[in-house]
Amino acid sequence: MTVLLAFAALALAGCAADAQSDAERDPVTTEIGGTATSILNAGVMAEIGEDENASVKFLFDPLYDDHFGSLEQLTPELIEAIISGAPPYDSVDAVFVSHAHGDHFSASMLTRMLAEQPDLVLIAPAQAVERMREDSNWDAGFAARSRSIALENGEAHEAFDLAGATIEAFRSPHNGWPERHSNVHNITFRVSAPAGDRIVGRVMHLGDADPFAEHYAALEEFLQARRSGLAMVPFWFYREDNLEALIGETLNASEAVAMHVPARVPQDLRDGERAYFSGVGEVLEFTATSE
Ligand SMILES: [Zn+2]
Repeated sequence: MTVLLAFAALALAGCAADAQSDAERDPVTTEIGGTATSILNAGVMAEIGEDENASVKFLFDPLYDDHFGSLEQLTPELIEAIISGAPPYDSVDAVFVSHAHGDHFSASMLTRMLAEQPDLVLIAPAQAVERMREDSNWDAGFAARSRSIALENGEAHEAFDLAGATIEAFRSPHNGWPERHSNVHNITFRVSAPAGDRIVGRVMHLGDADPFAEHYAALEEFLQARRSGLAMVPFWFYREDNLEALIGETLNASEAVAMHVPARVPQDLRDGERAYFSGVGEVLEFTATSE
């Protein structure tokens, strides 16, 4: 298991100008909001909140059918551990799906996961839930534990509570917009859980979001309302010229980690200073932010 120490070092090394604007935006906290642990591809396990009793455990895009020749492939052992809820994937409160593409989603594996974990909740775009309903292993009883998110681009979902956490979501265009995948609903989830006195752990998972800043203009009120400790972004965000502003201002996040990294890690990620996930079990701590 690898711990990404670069994150803490980078946070401390943040330049004075950034520290100033961050302080205005949000009181500085050194409290830990939780941890994000890589699975593979866009899969991440987030444990958010206080260690004792108040913490939640969520999985984002953990199971998928396709690797398209360039992404890591899930091993049978890893698939079985996630589906059955074997440690470290035990006591998962909810599984989130960003969108119904084969490298983020598996209708057959997720229906099996719902069958094997009777308390598990699924939160996914309506397009993904519809695909699962067509699966031969779908059980009518899963409907009560499945939350379909149906949004237009630039639209945010009303916040709701789950296992003591607050769940928010918005839809923005899939990467490649407008030529590619414009009909695929890509959902960003923003989830928070209490991490102490008036502070929370809060993370965002952006699925296959397109980084074009203009997509986020309609979501400004949603994004500026709450600062996230960590934004989990697809690796191509790191290639944007305005990366600092995109993470710190547009997405309003203290730090970022890149996911969906190809098996052969691109040189620019290796050479860059920002954190990225490649491989199973890399752990990144993120700081808490105000409620
Ligand atoms: Zn996709």
